[in-house]
Amino acid sequence: MKFDPISFLACPICHASLRKKGTILRCSGCNRTLEIQNGIVLNHSNFSKDLQLSMKKWNELYKNEFLNKEYKKKSEEYETFYLKDTIDQLNEARDLKGVRYLEIGCGEFFLGQAIAHRCECIIGIDVSEEALKIAQHMLDKKHIHNYLLIQGDILHMPIKNNCIDVIYGGGVIEHFKDTGTCLKELYRVLDSEGVSFNTVPYLNLGSLSYRQVWGNIPNVPILKQIAEFVHIKLLGAKHMKFGYEMSFLGSTLLSLHEQAGFTKVYVDRFRVKLLFEFLPNSFKSVFKYLARNSKLFWPMVKVVGVKKNNTQLSNSSSVLFATFSMWKGNVRTPINGNIEPMRDFFVPKVKKLVIIDQPHPGSDGVMPKIEMYSHNNLKSKSYSSSWYIYFLKPFLEMSNTNATQMLFKIRDFLSVIDWSFQDKIKFDYFIGLESINALAGIFLRKIGRVDTVIYYVFDYSPNRFQNKLFNRENSSQLCCGVT
Ligand SMILES: [Zn+2]
Repeated sequence: MKFDPISFLACPICHASLRKKGTILRCSGCNRTLEIQNGIVLNHSNFSKDLQLSMKKWNELYKNEFLNKEYKKKSEEYETFYLKDTIDQLNEARDLKGVRYLEIGCGEFFLGQAIAHRCECIIGIDVSEEALKIAQHMLDKKHIHNYLLIQGDILHMPIKNNCIDVIYGGGVIEHFKDTGTCLKELYRVLDSEGVSFNTVPYLNLGSLSYRQVWGNIPNVPILKQIAEFVHIKLLGAKHMKFGYEMSFLGSTLLSLHEQAGFTKVYVDRFRVKLLFEFLPNSFKSVFKYLARNSKLFWPMVKVVGVKKNNTQLSNSSSVLFATFSMWKGNVRTPINGNIEPMRDFFVPKVKKLVIIDQPHPGSDGVMPKIEMYSHNNLKSKSYSSSWYIYFLKPFLEMSNTNATQMLFKIRDFLSVIDWSFQDKIKFDYFIGLESINALAGIFLRKIGRVDTVIYYVFDYSPNRFQNKLFNRENSSQLCCGVT
């Protein structure tokens, strides 16, 4: 398959697709434009003042680096000290073979160049166009073609949803005041099961001592305010040579990642050669020892998170919805009111929806009703229950008063099982209103008749059911879309 860099791009703001006309890429949603210049995607229309300032600073730096060929020395240094350790650790988190790789804050993209041959493609995004020019120059010299370079804001990347397998940020996310927003953006572009791998300064004795030399801000209340006051207000940020930079506790990193939606998150020491050039020689060996062996002195940690594998509803999905309502005469009364909205939500989206409507005690009629929708149309309403539900019928009729009736609960459970056996397909989703229906769904999952069970409650109270099975995945997500 030929690599088409444009296929990864989308509007940085509304994420709609782009139309290419000459060197201009225009958003089909909001009309915003990006530009392609000499193979680099440029995008400065939505840059904040802050970003424009740091962009200017970085551009000057990289421009000089390109002119005096300093990047060659930098690249050699990177290869000597950091490259192998970094690749090894990335590979531990996710095998890089055949992946779509994105590096945020990629600079000259040394790492991307080194792994390009084993990836499907490498995408580098950086705020500095001049850095990307160096990257491009080096990539072309190495005859690497499966790359895409984007000048852009990491908080608003011009990249499609769900299209990246691995994201790497080497000391990037600590430079955003709002780390959470940054992580959400990474989560957005990752495909399900995609891996985000970031290295950040660790908050420990190290960040409180030597890292203060360059004005690191510990990201915990009070210390953060003090450090910001000292470094930015009092010292005018003049020695903050990496700009605004925070260090994090492991627990903060975990919760920030989980809030962004990541799962399987872990934080561990980032194994890397330590130089400590700023320390006098006599101190170096002691510090190196401490930095390797004591959490209190680890300089950097890696934080790795995986995007949840959320099976999406699609036009090939099938949904079985077990619910109840009150029937008067031959019509459903709108007392529960959940059926119509659910139906209207699912019917246009899925291949097949079956609603099992169990008349509430006190209704006219006691037998469950089935509505089956397929390809946007109501397909059938007639349904005859199996004998074991007919067997219950006279007993149901005897206890048919508006109250909680045990026998009706048994009917509910059996009606779900009954339908599942009559309709031979395996449903992708089962939505069970209230506990008995959810239980029936769990039973169906156990015997392989449904994939995912969603426990749907109206009047939720957390400790009503002790059974942990009820707190199943997806429930809020799917149901909130409807209710
Ligand atoms: Zn747009």
